[in-house]
Amino acid sequence: MPAEPKNLKQIDADSILHPSTNANEFAKTGSRIIQSGKGIYLEDTDGNRLIDAVAGLWCVNVGYGRPEIANAMHKAATDLSYYHTFTGMSNVPQIELAERLLAIAPNNMSKVFFASGGSDGNDSLMKIVWYYHNLIGKPEKRKIISRWQSYHGTSIATASLTGLPSFHKDFNLPIEGVLHTESPDYFRHGKPGESELDFSKRRAAELEALILQHGPETVGAFIAEPVMGAGGVITPPEGYFAEIQKVTKKYDILFIADEVVCGYGRLGTWFGSEVYDIKPDMITTAKALTSGYFPFSASFITEQIWDVIKQGSAKYGSFAHGYTYAGHPIGAAVAMANLDIIENDGLIAQSADVGQYFHTQLNQRFANDPFVAQVRGQGMLAAVQLMQDKDSKTFFDPAIKIAPSVTVKCYQNGLIARPLPSVDSVAFSPPLVTSKAQVDDIVNIFEASVRDVMQQHGL
Ligand code: PMP
Repeated sequence: MPAEPKNLKQIDADSILHPSTNANEFAKTGSRIIQSGKGIYLEDTDGNRLIDAVAGLWCVNVGYGRPEIANAMHKAATDLSYYHTFTGMSNVPQIELAERLLAIAPNNMSKVFFASGGSDGNDSLMKIVWYYHNLIGKPEKRKIISRWQSYHGTSIATASLTGLPSFHKDFNLPIEGVLHTESPDYFRHGKPGESELDFSKRRAAELEALILQHGPETVGAFIAEPVMGAGGVITPPEGYFAEIQKVTKKYDILFIADEVVCGYGRLGTWFGSEVYDIKPDMITTAKALTSGYFPFSASFITEQIWDVIKQGSAKYGSFAHGYTYAGHPIGAAVAMANLDIIENDGLIAQSADVGQYFHTQLNQRFANDPFVAQVRGQGMLAAVQLMQDKDSKTFFDPAIKIAPSVTVKCYQNGLIARPLPSVDSVAFSPPLVTSKAQVDDIVNIFEASVRDVMQQHGL
């Protein structure tokens, strides 16, 4: 006798604490269970076929169901299912991957530290900032500055860095020693008549004021995403990183580039630092390093930092930090296969080309739309700013929950887009394999969904 089909949604509701989910709303809607994926398409257990225009959580750059990656995973698991990398132990895939990554990482990175995700990658760099300053005899230089609206993870330390209040207020965060400076969101915070460059200079002056208020001798590092992802797909205004880097240099503050979303092709270049001429001392990458097929991250440090860490052993003995799954052989093999696809399929160039097409289409389609105030982003990363009245810059009543209303409608119409409720925007981050014809499908469904929702609200 075949087994009774289980009521998966009921079991889910009875047994899983879902991340980033409102329990009350979830009790009404239940889960949407994704059961398969191929290319840019997903299927759920209700029989919906969906275009995933977010690539999971901005990570499935090579698309779903790639046999090259499945085969690499199978081979790696067969050869060596696991071994740790503590106490100098190693494995072939992580060595090959390290060499390959250091050849493409921006600003001459010297060493790579492997972990399992973006949060623990950033956590590791925070600890390296402290370790480094302890070793050079400046133990008080340990405060870390991030920006409001940023996203850097959800561990205790990285949720503190994350500049979105909902990640702080219910958990008594941020921890001591994490400071926030103002966000680079020119659209929201630029003053009337202020140019982008003047705004960038103002932001740099505010950063300097914060550093001076706390004492430069207490500030160890500054962390920034090249383009802010979850906080709104905020591209830096003109001159922003040049001005900010003048300040971090002046006060000997290490610059951490959080490339967890931007890395590996998302912006039409290998890394976001290239686009904005960021010269980081440290970099975190994760997500598209394995296109989400395996939880894996790579954080980088320069030779200057490595030189100091190396000397640390005389003082401290071993570098007492690391994770059970650091440099996992299956993860490293998956990353190698993923990088092969990005290179062999020319996905960096495709991301630049199709990304430009995507932005052109969105801009043309919504140029005269009363409810779309801005299309922003870079490469295959975009956001559409919704507004009740763009001429008078009037935002929607928050009670309408405009961005989630639009993305729920998109889902009903066969498209996954991501709501960014804190900025009334809808984000797109499609797999880099998306074609121009598929971009047309995305834009068509999105436009129809926006119209439906505005009509529902009598607008
Ligand atoms: N940094 C950035 C820029 C991110 O977008 C994210 C995840 N969305 C993280 C860090 C945290 O990564 P993870 O969820 O893998 O811990």
